[in-house]
Amino acid sequence: MSDWKPIIGLEVHAELLTESKMFSACPVVDSVEAAPNTAVDPVSLGLPGTLPVINRKAIEFGMMVGLALNCEIPPFNQFARKSYFYPDLPKGYQISQYDRPLAINGYVDVEVTPETGDPYTKRIRIRRAHLEEDTGKLTHIPGGSLVDYNRAGVPLLEIVTEPDVNSAEEAEAFGRKLRAILQYLGVNNGDMSKGVLRMEPNISVMHKTDTEFRTRTEVKNLNSIRNVFRAIKAETERQIKLWESGDSVKQATLGWDEAKQRVVIQRYKETADEYRYFPEPDLPVLEVSREWVEQVRKNLPELPDAKRERFIRELGLSEYDASVLVMDQAVAHYYEEVLANGANPKSAANWMMGNLFSLMNANEIAREDIEQIKISAKQFAALLKLVDGGTLNRGTATTVLNEMWTTGDDPAKIVEAQGLAQVSDTGAISAAVDKVLAENEKMVADYLGGKDKLLGAMMGMCMKALGGKGDPKVVTEALKAALDARRT
Ligand code: ADP
Ligand code: MG
Repeated sequence: MSDWKPIIGLEVHAELLTESKMFSACPVVDSVEAAPNTAVDPVSLGLPGTLPVINRKAIEFGMMVGLALNCEIPPFNQFARKSYFYPDLPKGYQISQYDRPLAINGYVDVEVTPETGDPYTKRIRIRRAHLEEDTGKLTHIPGGSLVDYNRAGVPLLEIVTEPDVNSAEEAEAFGRKLRAILQYLGVNNGDMSKGVLRMEPNISVMHKTDTEFRTRTEVKNLNSIRNVFRAIKAETERQIKLWESGDSVKQATLGWDEAKQRVVIQRYKETADEYRYFPEPDLPVLEVSREWVEQVRKNLPELPDAKRERFIRELGLSEYDASVLVMDQAVAHYYEEVLANGANPKSAANWMMGNLFSLMNANEIAREDIEQIKISAKQFAALLKLVDGGTLNRGTATTVLNEMWTTGDDPAKIVEAQGLAQVSDTGAISAAVDKVLAENEKMVADYLGGKDKLLGAMMGMCMKALGGKGDPKVVTEALKAALDARRT
């Protein structure tokens, strides 16, 4: 196994959140929600005699992504016709970019957490990012197929990496980082389940004695980053087995069988596709002035890396915590709202990444859907303030948080209704401590005889006697004092 290294390059398609389509004023609608064929016009249907016009916003969004991925934006780019026949492509060709793409030669640094060993940072080079139009969508039903052209002509940015990705973990880290960048830029919502964002890994494996790459396969239709990860794991294993048994990998397009958790071969690629690319005669070469590039660069929002650095520098978060909190834009937004409501940055990070994420995991709510939970950022901040102010200890705060999760109530209301406010009254605490010690004479004697570890057990009994509401600091002090008083 360790004689083999995965070689992976990703092709990512991101629909751009423009109001109108790539080459006409036809509106862009949600391709899952909208009724079929309600957002179509002669241009997106490719009717004879229609002429395309380049959508300026799409170019700008594409440039934003290119710049965020550290690409060069060449002074000229050009659209080209990619000819093929398919029922979801009414013109018989797709307008794409070929030898003169919008953006080239970039990179993105990703933080990888491998299965074993320490986390590390890896640079993945971006070969190119080019603009094209999306196709329509086919739905196969018994007895035929249905076609919906709402999606035809939607601006699509294709981002292609160099084959720099060497594990499923690296691919996952790259996918998350790229998705975060697209979301932060506001050019794509990152929804892979609806196909708004699609990631297709090209996969081969390299033996340690190899000097050249081997045949690769490509996996399509992966509807989540998790499935990109799973498909790469499964496909690299399949390829290694083939090579080791003396067989060979054939170039193919694969799909992912979610139920069986394995790749399925959709079609073999015996010959290279011949698309007869040629410059689109209905569109001019597009000149991108340096002023335009600089203006777009100047208006870029704060991106995940910059936010992470700021969280570390200004809030004192650890690198790991900061990385996790910036990775989903929705999570970063929630966290910043919690802080805006007066919570301590470190407590907020701990409680979000600990108890809150556990609750979300247990209820199968993805991080990016944090806005759907019943606990508002303001209420979460209020809970943290009750902890830091001494009204709640960790245990009671967890109880309150769980209650907030189901009811959506304010923490103060729950604390009052359930009488959970922390007991720091020394009289009540001393009484509880004395009672516990009186009932456990043997344990006290053993402790005084040198069994220091018993302190924890006695502490637990005291907390229990106080209904879990004791201020742990005050209880520890009272317990130690009472034990010391019993030394002879
Ligand atoms: P094209 O699709 O135009 O033929 P390439 O084949 O060069 O372009 O690359 C397509 C994608 O496949 C890129 O992301 C590239 O990094 C990746 N890739 C190229 N060769 C290999 C290989 N042997 N193994 C894995 N990925 C590869
Ligand atoms: Mg390709």
